[in-house]
Amino acid sequence: MNMNIKYIFLILLFPLLTACNSLSQTVPPAELVLQNGTIYTAVPDKPTVQAVAIRDGKYQALGDQQTVTAYIGSDTEVIDLAGNMAMPGINDTHIHPVMAGQMALFECSFGFTASPDEIAQTLSECAQDQPDATWIRGGQWGSNFFELHALESPRGFLDAISDTHAIFLRDDSGHNAWVNSKALALAGIGASTENPQGGTIVRDADGEANGLLLETAIMLVEKIITPFTAEQNLAAAAHATRVMNAFGITGFKAAGYTEAMPASLHALDQRGDLHAHAAICLVTPYGKRQGPLDYQLLDKQRSEFASNNVHTNFVKLFMDGVPTPARTAAMIHPYVADELHGADYRGDMHLTAEQLTTDLIELDKRGFTVKIHTAGDGAVRVALDAIAAAREANGNSGLQHELAHAGYIDPMDIPRFKALGVAADFSPYLWHPSPIMDAVISAVGEQRGPQYWPTKSLLQADASVIAGSDWPAAVPSADPWVGLEALVTRRHPKGQAPGSLWPEEAVSLQQALQIYTLAGARALKLQDLTGSIEVGKSADLIVLDRNLLAVPIEDVSETQVLRTYFRGKLVHSVE
Ligand SMILES: [Zn+2]
Repeated sequence: MNMNIKYIFLILLFPLLTACNSLSQTVPPAELVLQNGTIYTAVPDKPTVQAVAIRDGKYQALGDQQTVTAYIGSDTEVIDLAGNMAMPGINDTHIHPVMAGQMALFECSFGFTASPDEIAQTLSECAQDQPDATWIRGGQWGSNFFELHALESPRGFLDAISDTHAIFLRDDSGHNAWVNSKALALAGIGASTENPQGGTIVRDADGEANGLLLETAIMLVEKIITPFTAEQNLAAAAHATRVMNAFGITGFKAAGYTEAMPASLHALDQRGDLHAHAAICLVTPYGKRQGPLDYQLLDKQRSEFASNNVHTNFVKLFMDGVPTPARTAAMIHPYVADELHGADYRGDMHLTAEQLTTDLIELDKRGFTVKIHTAGDGAVRVALDAIAAAREANGNSGLQHELAHAGYIDPMDIPRFKALGVAADFSPYLWHPSPIMDAVISAVGEQRGPQYWPTKSLLQADASVIAGSDWPAAVPSADPWVGLEALVTRRHPKGQAPGSLWPEEAVSLQQALQIYTLAGARALKLQDLTGSIEVGKSADLIVLDRNLLAVPIEDVSETQVLRTYFRGKLVHSVE
């Protein structure tokens, strides 16, 4: 009897012993173990684990405490999460990092809600700091600034601050500019200058430019401003990457606006300092153009700028502008009537439907995923038509093209996102009441205006929704936590604007977390590499100061990222 028990015991023990032996003999110990926490994996079957082991920049094991303890060796760094939450790094699918870095490091900055006095004060200080500079560039004035503050002459206001510097100030959307007389003179803009295609030089009563330039008209001035040096652009890219890492962002899609963006992110990666997976949308000409794109140039740039962490199979196209009082987004229904645009104005498109279709078919054939800026529901519809034409011409390439912003979508077009395999790139993080939303509603109308960002409808229709900050356009920072909270609450995360915005479109926290992690990785075409915590994937992991799954939803926007790991290496820490 005794013998039998021993025998059975040995039989039971034997596989365990061999398992332990084989583990210690064949499995190398982890370099890093994080344990004793709530680790959100973003894998629906097993959404949370207690511990993870990391080696060679990848997840080696995950599960309960016991499973992972087996991977701890004498040299393993062990981090006790002490109950804190860890999760995959955030993927921001629409951001302008180089532009944001340039603004932070080299421009004259004031907040979106700055008053005329505050703007004058900031600019005067900048002018005093650099008395010999030709240009003062900066921003960003609010979209509703000129509705809130009746300036007699926008140009004259800036002339009073400096008539020796040329002043160029962007608005919060990044699409429009406010300049002084010196800037207009240097650009040769006068009463006889015609509006460029796709842009407006706003005039005063006697036909002179009043200092406001909308859409492509800003380029008349922008093209003569001394460009930043390669060194400045590299510093800008490095600064923005550090800022993103501090917010927990380990993957992003640079949404192609600045010419300098691809080269500087590539250079940063070559230097070993790009601590994030970067998908970069190659830049195409902004505004109206004749003929198709230069596809050979895009092919050349695709190979020129690709590197370990820089993925270049992406292109950005612009179909329209913004649905602010500038009224440059292409809408299906007319805007609220105003003096400049009249009663039946629906915005304008940069490209004809034929041009977009030609480009889409060719880019899709060449393996480029296209992000199309479509801020109005009219532009959304034309873009969906063009993607349908590409599917017809090329078959289903499997490329998930994206409609950027796409806050206004006609209900009839919602099912087409799933049917055509298109992602709604919701950016910026503004699905809550805010001054910018007030400006948009004043232009689009009280009834349709608030029906902005149909997140739940798209998810219910099984469409892919991704989220981008659009920093530095329209939001003051790349902070993803305010966007994540507001996807769930549809209220201003810091309580600075009352009420809620189309609360019927609120989604669950789990859905919001999926959007910010795995759905984002899919948009970067890196879902096999990152976006969730699974064995073999890149260890892009963040440690938070709170458990999002346990705190009240109103606390999510206050989240601090204690540690950010990219490819298993610590790239941000608050300690
Ligand atoms: Zn953008």
